Amino acid sequence: MDFSYSPRTQELQAKLRQFMEDHIYPNEQRYWDELKANTEAGKRWTPLPLIEELKPKARERDLWNLFLPESEYGAGLTNQEYAPLAEIMGRTPWASEVFNCSAPDTGNMETIVRYGSAEQKKQWLEPLLEGKIRSAFAMTEPEVASSDATNITARIKRDGDDYVLNGRKWWTSGAGDPRCKVFIFMGKTDPDAPRHSQQSMILVPAEAPGVTVVRPLSVFGYDDAPHGHMEVLFENVRVPASNILLGEGRGFEIAQGRLGPGRIHHCMRLIGLAERSLELMCKRASARVAFGKPVAAQTVTQERIAEARCMIDQARLLTLKAAWMMDVAGNKTAKAEIAMIKVVAPSMACKVIDWAMQVHGGAGMCQDFPLAYFYTIARTLRFADGPDEVHRNAIAKMELGKFA
Ligand SMILES: Cc1cc2nc3c(=O)[nH]c(=O)nc-3n(C[C@H](O)[C@H](O)[C@H](O)COP(=O)(O)OP(=O)(O)OC[C@H]3O[C@@H](n4cnc5c(N)ncnc54)[C@H](O)[C@@H]3O)c2cc1C
Repeated sequence: MDFSYSPRTQELQAKLRQFMEDHIYPNEQRYWDELKANTEAGKRWTPLPLIEELKPKARERDLWNLFLPESEYGAGLTNQEYAPLAEIMGRTPWASEVFNCSAPDTGNMETIVRYGSAEQKKQWLEPLLEGKIRSAFAMTEPEVASSDATNITARIKRDGDDYVLNGRKWWTSGAGDPRCKVFIFMGKTDPDAPRHSQQSMILVPAEAPGVTVVRPLSVFGYDDAPHGHMEVLFENVRVPASNILLGEGRGFEIAQGRLGPGRIHHCMRLIGLAERSLELMCKRASARVAFGKPVAAQTVTQERIAEARCMIDQARLLTLKAAWMMDVAGNKTAKAEIAMIKVVAPSMACKVIDWAMQVHGGAGMCQDFPLAYFYTIARTLRFADGPDEVHRNAIAKMELGKFA
């Protein structure tokens, strides 16, 4: 294992850092101002001009589609090369979209690259790669424990040359955005088939009759507009049979392939979020004086800073190891490392952000600092892409299997 950054990664890191300095950090307040202005104009779900303004700038600098490891569609980077770049983007929650590297589009694009037909690629992948449309992934359902995807009840029924879809989904991230033009929908094509062959995935145009975005869900009070996490109803939605991905009964296979990269991308970004929080923590602790000395002079603060540094570096190394394993051995062989980092990174980020908020006092809770919002992001990632417990179960099974 060699975890040094390749010359290509180092060059892109430098360009990306410069872009963040020039265009992302100075516009952080503008992002919230534009969202506020949109809201006041009754357009809460309208995309922000700032993002569209910055996309061409990122593209001009070849900071575009940096994910998609070793595919002719992306920048040709390996997962290991992409990890430190996703970390930099992750320092500001909305930044990755500027580089067309944001969830859930990255996972969805990888799915279509890997499992889509030539026709599906033309229709959906090309505009996604161009950043002209966005997408959503509709798996989770309110009525069933969806961490066990065999519970999914949505139906995909063949009817002549079409499939007819019915189901209620929620937490469909990105479905609030009017640019979201396609869903990857998971449902059962054959409820009588063996447990892991009942499900299929199918592409559904967002504008198909019968698709209704019911409501946005809030995360600790944040609705993440204009992206949003939506409850979506699919009622007798008819799509051509050719929209199926890979074939009937292959849904689980696709989910395994899709969620591997999706999960690790979240972890890479979380390292950036935690790193930024530690920076804020150090600056505030040094500047703030309580009981006659800087908060940084308190040993409890020093303990937390040191511990945060250790935890972030440990998580980064495990992320790099998982990325390296995916590159050299494939996503399936890397499943233990992917599960481990999916457990480690969100909890690490939650802890570091929590300490950073504590150092900030009341300020850490309010809109003057990004920490409270950072925390909600990190905390949701203990559920999104599978709860901690499910990943721990998988790790334990693999571990026990060694001694069975
Ligand atoms: C912000 C956010 C964005 C999301 N985006 C998407 C999206 O774009 N598309 C999508 O389809 N879904 C999305 N999700 C949904 C997410 O993937 C699910 O919430 C998650 O898989 C858990 O499913 P559930 O909510 O039905 O929880 P349940 O399955 O009801 O599980 C509840 C709890 O039971 C416990 N549990 C479950 N299984 C086990 C086990 N084996 N061992 C021990 N304990 C267990 C865990 O504590 C778990 O948290 C998102 C969620 C959030 C919060």
